[in-house]
Amino acid sequence: MKTVDLIVPCYNESEVLSMFYEEVCSVAQKCSDYGFKFIFINDGSSDSTLEIIGKLAQKDKRVKYISFSRNFGKEAAMLAGMSYSSGDYVGIIDADLQHSPELLIDMIKAVDIEGYDVAAARRVDRQGESKLKSALSRRFYRVISKLSDVEIQDGAQDFRVMTRKVVKAILSMPEYNRFSKGIFTWVGFKTKWFEHENRERAAGNTKWSIAKLFKYAIDGIIGFSTTPLKISFMTGVVFSTLGTLYAVYIIIDTIINGPDVAGYPSIICLIVLMSGLILTSLGIVGEYIAKIYMEVKRRPLFLVDTTNIDKRD
Ligand code: UDP
Ligand code: MG
Repeated sequence: MKTVDLIVPCYNESEVLSMFYEEVCSVAQKCSDYGFKFIFINDGSSDSTLEIIGKLAQKDKRVKYISFSRNFGKEAAMLAGMSYSSGDYVGIIDADLQHSPELLIDMIKAVDIEGYDVAAARRVDRQGESKLKSALSRRFYRVISKLSDVEIQDGAQDFRVMTRKVVKAILSMPEYNRFSKGIFTWVGFKTKWFEHENRERAAGNTKWSIAKLFKYAIDGIIGFSTTPLKISFMTGVVFSTLGTLYAVYIIIDTIINGPDVAGYPSIICLIVLMSGLILTSLGIVGEYIAKIYMEVKRRPLFLVDTTNIDKRD
């Protein structure tokens, strides 16, 4: 019997967990040819998420959990789930029922029968999300696709089912600053896309504020592109050239017409412009150095407090 491990990152999801569990059980029932495991990752929740998962685990052998020592974020939760998984197929799904578990049936079919390596969901509408957030997200996908060497589908989600081969490939990327959407695209493999309607969250609140999303966007760009460094270099080159030409002009003008004391406005303008440029470039370089700094520390991406999974390696 082929096995499917479902990874479910949970951060303060006590309100939806039992609803989620029921839906996912009915999916497992419909796919009775597969052996399921539900791996819940408790990402340092401060509510009763862990107790609820613990209770589920007591009555259902398929329920596994990994509980972090604190909140490490969804990226870390997905990574932990993958590294503790052992199934032939591995799925990732949100606990809030925004990713409809029903879709898993077709996704599993795609990887097991149709010969795809990845079945991934892409949302086609952004209902239940603020206008500003949708507009910013769209812009982000366009910017990152232009800047980086990975083309990320607009609306691509973390909701997916993968073969063990793909999971291995993802786990072989040890980077600390993880931007999963980029990593998923970067590893490649044959992917089938499922169009997916956005559902309202069943209960509880989103953990993403605009500020958090902005940071996420910057992480994505820095993690998968060195274009900002090139832009700052190219701007530097253009301005040095223009500066040199201007200097030559001033020198010739001074030789011919004598020194000109009335150059105050142009000097101020140049100083303001150039120092702005220098600071911006330094800032961009600084962002990369900050990432390098975090990478070289080689800190673990998550720390496990308790789990009921025997990790094989
Ligand atoms: N999540 C997590 N750790 C976090 C934030 C979120 O494990 O620090 C989980 C959360 O419990 C949910 C999924 O990631 O299952 C998606 O989060 P959310 O629904 O808040 O994001 P949105 O759907 O609004 O993008
Ligand atoms: Mg959600």
